[in-house]
Amino acid sequence: MARALRRAEAAQAARSGWEPTAAGAHLRGRPTRNTQPEVALRKAVHSLGLRFRLNRRVGRYKPDFVLPRHHLAVFVDGCFWHNCPKHGPREFRGPNASRWQSKKDANRARDLAANTALAQAGWKVLRIWECETRADVDAAAMKVLIAAHTEIGDAVSF
Ligand SMILES: [Zn+2]
Repeated sequence: MARALRRAEAAQAARSGWEPTAAGAHLRGRPTRNTQPEVALRKAVHSLGLRFRLNRRVGRYKPDFVLPRHHLAVFVDGCFWHNCPKHGPREFRGPNASRWQSKKDANRARDLAANTALAQAGWKVLRIWECETRADVDAAAMKVLIAAHTEIGDAVSF
């Protein structure tokens, strides 16, 4: 069973051009929505009296949640994929190094494009690192509260 699975993974990796590695194994199949940090943040935001919507598309983009009344779009960015300054990968090694690097660059470009498009559509954008929600979820929720009451402008940064 396990061997069949490994064979299937290796075959898939070969098709995609990626080499299967031990380091990559724990990243496969990670949930990207309704992650624990995201759910904890939503709870804390709700307890501050803010109301939000999930699965709301704004143009081509789908923020993790939006506060329609405040025109605020919130993204909870995973530290690895979105390259948090504390936990993002510094340098890639191994057979997939250049692929990881271009994936990271593509994510960064997509985040910036989303910020710009949402701002142009009249939305405020708040990005919160996953690690911020883990370290102090109430402080992270407070950022949402502050951003909610900030005038519409560019991306909100703290
Ligand atoms: Zn982080």
